Amino acid sequence: MTIAERPWLNRLQPYQPGNRAPIADGSMASNESPLGASPDVAAAICGALAQSHRYPDPLAQELRSELASLHHVAADQILIGNGSDELIFLLASAYLAQGGHAVCAAPPYQIDRISTYAVNARLTQVPLRDWAHDLETMAAVDADIAYVVNPHNPTGTVCTPAGIREFVARSPARLVVIDEAYIDFTDDPNAQTAIPLVAGGGVAVLRTFSKIHGLAGLRVGYLVAERDIIATLQKIRPPFSVSSVAQAAALAALRDPAHPLAVREHTLRIRAEMVDLLEQAGYPVVPSQANFLLVQTLAETEFVSAVLRHGISVRPGSSLGLPGTVRISVPTERGLELLRGALRPDREL
Ligand code: PMP
Repeated sequence: MTIAERPWLNRLQPYQPGNRAPIADGSMASNESPLGASPDVAAAICGALAQSHRYPDPLAQELRSELASLHHVAADQILIGNGSDELIFLLASAYLAQGGHAVCAAPPYQIDRISTYAVNARLTQVPLRDWAHDLETMAAVDADIAYVVNPHNPTGTVCTPAGIREFVARSPARLVVIDEAYIDFTDDPNAQTAIPLVAGGGVAVLRTFSKIHGLAGLRVGYLVAERDIIATLQKIRPPFSVSSVAQAAALAALRDPAHPLAVREHTLRIRAEMVDLLEQAGYPVVPSQANFLLVQTLAETEFVSAVLRHGISVRPGSSLGLPGTVRISVPTERGLELLRGALRPDREL
């Protein structure tokens, strides 16, 4: 085999990010925070820049210990990554390489699939049922890792806490990875989080600062898991993947709890208004507990280009494995007005 021959990589295409909107308020393609980061973040970044000639703390100890007290776990049960995407790739390198097997929903969060194929592991994709994870069927699959995305991306649907508990108890998977990137937007995040299940073993929970904290551009995510999992991942991670600027920004974000509360309140309110607007315009909407809505439309391409004429960028469902849909992130107030304008009955949509 030559260096160029890696047949298992032929299944993959490079990740396609959402298109940028022509105007900031029209950004509805990438599930970012429409309200940005806490105002304290900018000052923290400036402070950290003075030390930019030094390597960052490889384990981000300060951030790690604050997160540990927030989640009532030990500091060595947390690993900070360059976005939760990096942690998903680390999990694949550690537990799926050399003939591993993963199970996930179909369509999955795209990085779960890409990271599995990147290490030439097998992937069983279990079709969604009523837009949500079919945990019963997934629990019949013997795998090294079971990925559960709660709320799911791209649908925004949730698994019930009882459903997750039962899945963890019944699944033969060696590790159940529960990705909670959007958990802060659920009706009751405290009731939904699987972090308490980590103590029972075989469960790892992923979180990110990219959504409710508005730090997508700085790349900070974290994994909560048993100590030996964290210790294993530490051995193979790039030591300085989370910059000192990103660590300082995440700490500042964490120390301003009012900001995520405001983002949550905004998101839930605008999400409800978007549902009304879209349903009145004749588009069925999948019930979402995330900061985006999956909308059904027979004319996906036309929908995408028609809203673009109003300055709005949305994500075509076919790029996410769900043709016949578009995914629309919860925008600013002004973004909602743009959407209202685009969906007016006298318009072409
Ligand atoms: N998990 C899910 C389900 C996501 O939608 C995203 C964001 N696209 C991530 C993880 C990755 O987040 P991060 O920016 O922390 O890499």
